[in-house]
Amino acid sequence: MKSLVVLSGAGISAESGIRTFRETGGLWEQYDISQVATPEAWFKDPELVNNFYNQRRKQVIEASPNEAHYALVEMEKCFNVQIITQNIDDLHERAGSKNILHLHGEIRKARSTGDPKLIYPIEGHILRRDLTCEKGYPLRPHVVWFGEEVPNMEIAWKMVEKADILFVVGTSLNVYPAAGLMHYADENCQVFLIDPNASERESTERIKVIAEKAGNALPELVKQICPQTI
Ligand code: NAD
Repeated sequence: MKSLVVLSGAGISAESGIRTFRETGGLWEQYDISQVATPEAWFKDPELVNNFYNQRRKQVIEASPNEAHYALVEMEKCFNVQIITQNIDDLHERAGSKNILHLHGEIRKARSTGDPKLIYPIEGHILRRDLTCEKGYPLRPHVVWFGEEVPNMEIAWKMVEKADILFVVGTSLNVYPAAGLMHYADENCQVFLIDPNASERESTERIKVIAEKAGNALPELVKQICPQTI
């Protein structure tokens, strides 16, 4: 089976009702990133940061996977599918995708502030501030904040290097280092860029731009490149 690697971003969850990051009306227009998504913010006002993520977690729990997430599960019938997601939601997991690498963490988990290897699921949407890890350190949301290292980057590079086909779905390719990932694709890898705001001008022999919503484009791609599923 050929290898299909998918780099997904906030846009793939937009049709599930979870706001994206940078678009007009996107999440961050209403918040100052430096006050909610940096280590300095956590140090200064952990209560505010924790409340921000508690709200986001509630939204994620209430949302459901959409046609785009399910189409990627269908693709497993024809390809070895590896998803690399910038998203902190768990909609790929709940749709049923098997291989998922989270670059920016997982909002439904907490991790120790003293030992980053200690990661715990969060019951419900509230991360209680009195909880500690087994070594006694307080817990924080298991997300990568601006200014922090992205620990899974090297694993992701290697995955992209081996891809026969690469889907880049719902990402503005603005947040580095994740945005640089597609440049690791082999010159023979066929790349599909799926984003309603992408420009056809970005199309090349190797990169096919599909300027549509992921919920339309991905089920259509399943029919085109994964005929066994029909
Ligand atoms: P971004 O907001 O910068 O870009 C989103 C992209 O999705 C845009 O280019 C937009 O045109 C496109 N888009 C909008 N609707 C779409 C649809 N229906 N189908 C396909 N594409 C659509 O997001 P990003 O590049 O992922 O970077 C944002 C960062 O914020 C990520 O690192 C991520 O961790 C975080 N974030 C995550 C979530 C989530 O987990 N769902 C939500 C918001 C932000």
